[in-house]
Amino acid sequence: MNAHRLPPALAARLAADPALWRDFNDICDCGGRLAGTASEKKAFALLRERVRAASPANSGRSIPVPYNGWTPKSATLRLPGGATAACHPLVRTIATAPEGLTAEVVDLGRGTPDEFAEHAGEINGRIVLVRHELMFAAGTIHRRRKYDMARERGAVGFLIAGPLAGHVVAGSSGRDSGPGIPALGIAPETAAKLARSAHGWPSVTMIIETDEAPAETETLVYEYPGTTDEWVVLSAHVDGHDLAESAMDNGTGLAAALAVTRTLSPEVGKWRRGLRVMFFSVEEWALTGSAQYVQALSAEARAKIALNINLDSVAGSPNLAALSSGYAGVEPFLLQVAVANGQSLRTVRPLMTNSDHANFATGGIPAIRLVSGFDDPNAHLRVVLTPADTRDKVAQGELRQATLLTAALVAAACGADPAEAAKWRVRSAS
Ligand SMILES: [Zn+2]
Repeated sequence: MNAHRLPPALAARLAADPALWRDFNDICDCGGRLAGTASEKKAFALLRERVRAASPANSGRSIPVPYNGWTPKSATLRLPGGATAACHPLVRTIATAPEGLTAEVVDLGRGTPDEFAEHAGEINGRIVLVRHELMFAAGTIHRRRKYDMARERGAVGFLIAGPLAGHVVAGSSGRDSGPGIPALGIAPETAAKLARSAHGWPSVTMIIETDEAPAETETLVYEYPGTTDEWVVLSAHVDGHDLAESAMDNGTGLAAALAVTRTLSPEVGKWRRGLRVMFFSVEEWALTGSAQYVQALSAEARAKIALNINLDSVAGSPNLAALSSGYAGVEPFLLQVAVANGQSLRTVRPLMTNSDHANFATGGIPAIRLVSGFDDPNAHLRVVLTPADTRDKVAQGELRQATLLTAALVAAACGADPAEAAKWRVRSAS
């Protein structure tokens, strides 16, 4: 018997589980799940109900997560000539004065460090315009880094153009509290109107109204102990953006985590390690929920976590990748489990701080993010953070495949012998 293979009875149960697709659609029905909205609360209530149905004896626990609350009230972008263009306030953008911020726009293309350096003398006092990039690719420059480069060079505002014709783009500015610059997502057509011309740089007005007040959300935790005090953590983030239904990011991860919990929770008691299922929020706000959780763990508690398997955007393409966060020692295990279960998987090593696994990884815990469509510019994943992140982008077969692979990884990780698990903690640099 192959220790890497999910027991066929469990695989068959998952392959036929009608609740996987129902859960995914019900999560999408909650709406975009922006932290602090009724939509986010509705999703938490749904997760509670579905886990209770799967394991009535386990009521789980809720960890309060205080954070700097922020609510967008209105956003306007006035173009040269006076027309307005569709725009979307980036999460935690500062508000402008009531009359707005009027300044010239300097277009820095993609917004690479080179472009910022070449235009260093033209940024101070202007609004910087950059492009949103496919997030799931090697060499991606994260929006938050571009925002920081703009701020550091004295920009007074920040515009980021989305990838999809006719649609604005969402995302976080990365600001927590304190100083910042007004930041809006716009459509590519709008960006095209803001090119420098013979007349100079075009001037726009940004008007943003927000509310900021202390807020609280939660992290939901369900523990199913194994025969030792060690754990495998399966995580997925609940929150999203209010542009659509945040279907791929991360309705897919939530539905897969629920299905794996339903199928594996009755089995875990026989295995060496327990399963700790975690639903984080304020992930889209600089990974706040998981950051608080990992920071509060003692060194001993961290050592008891053998592996974090974080599900974020696991369908939208048939191609799955595991981002191994520098933990080179876990890669052979991941690949062996994939092949033993008839799945293809690639591993990508550099730490990518684009989801909750990053906090586990930097906290000394082997952590992977399972993601679909990595390095595929044609995958539906390119429209994550736009209004097109809707359920029609997800094929049921892809979601089921990702769920089966997740279950296989969790089961094998729970059962792996200590010598194998010790290898997972080996990092590429050590
Ligand atoms: Zn995500």
